[in-house]
Amino acid sequence: MSKHLGMDIRVPIECDNPSIQRDEEKCIKCGQCKNICQDYIGVHGTYTLEETGDKAVCINCGQCANVCPVSSIHETYEYQLIQEEMKNPDKIIIFNTSPSVRIALGEEFGMADGSFVEGKMVALLRKLGAKYVLDTNFSADLTILEEGTELIRRLTKQTKPLPQFTSCCPAWVKYLEIYHPDMRDNLSTAKSPIGMQGPTVKTYFAKKMNLDPTKIVNVAVTPCTAKKYEIRREEMCDAGKYLGIEGMRDMDYVITTRELAKWAKEENIDFASLEDSSFDPLMGEASGAGVIFGNSGGVMEAALRTAYEIMTGQNAPADLLNYTPVRGLDDVKEASVEINGMTVNIAVIFGTKNASEFIEKMKNGDKQYHFIEVMTCPGGCIGGGGQPKDTKYQGD
Ligand code: SF4
Repeated sequence: MSKHLGMDIRVPIECDNPSIQRDEEKCIKCGQCKNICQDYIGVHGTYTLEETGDKAVCINCGQCANVCPVSSIHETYEYQLIQEEMKNPDKIIIFNTSPSVRIALGEEFGMADGSFVEGKMVALLRKLGAKYVLDTNFSADLTILEEGTELIRRLTKQTKPLPQFTSCCPAWVKYLEIYHPDMRDNLSTAKSPIGMQGPTVKTYFAKKMNLDPTKIVNVAVTPCTAKKYEIRREEMCDAGKYLGIEGMRDMDYVITTRELAKWAKEENIDFASLEDSSFDPLMGEASGAGVIFGNSGGVMEAALRTAYEIMTGQNAPADLLNYTPVRGLDDVKEASVEINGMTVNIAVIFGTKNASEFIEKMKNGDKQYHFIEVMTCPGGCIGGGGQPKDTKYQGD
């Protein structure tokens, strides 16, 4: 164990990083990557290479790539692997899109920030070779139900410790495993939306559509570089376990918003002129709850509304959450909610360094928190490491 922060370096630390690649020749030594990793993510500077056996600690969030002005650091590209899969006519290519992609992809093609391009995004994926295009919001609904009911069990039956932390951000999960290993039981046991979408496609969807799961090439399209790491975790092979197919991963590839745009540009596709298309049915529909996953606070609100409705049998009021900033901590908000006479204290945090400071403050304080959302990236997934470049931390 490292001396710092109770750090547990037995958690996988990859030399071959599945999320991030670095092209040394392009590097202009501006230090932006180091700054964000140290000041916002809270990883750089917390260990020495002696302690880790010469391995860099990385939580795969990709914020270093997002701020790199010369793209010396970029996501590990997987779209060429999908192109290879497409050469086999037996393969069934299924794309699953996360909520934050459809409101950021347009920027890569010169459209105004925040343009809603869901129809064009689906059309683009069909043009690139999709057999089916599904909406990961379908599984965001599953995640919300799981997290909401798990919270109820923790609140009413004390099945596991409180507070319950959200677990849908893989970079945060990895950060907690490394820096706060004593709090692993506080993490929700629910998989992330992509973690649930993968096996659901290869079991439920495959059965309904009469598809051979071994022929499915399941691709997540996300704002997130950490998902490239998450789908390769050992827990992410549940469909294979269920179906008795050895070595089958639930989700085969992850491409980011930027990567999708790069692929489309290489194919000379005129994005702006694409006719809108719609998601395929069955797993192309979702409630509005999943849509707000893309913003910090969205997971918390959706799960808490679900818990409220299950516990009280009534619709949650529109003003259920009334956040206030936590004094002395940037990017941390908290609120209290009354449910069936119980006061439920919650917090919403973005940035893992903020989360660490909050945990230390919580451990040294008297207040009982019940539910805490942590998302690694600025503003949540909308500011993910695979989104169109953010200039917020580039000093302009
Ligand atoms: Fe990925 Fe979202 Fe977490 Fe960023 S906040 S690492 S985009 S899941």
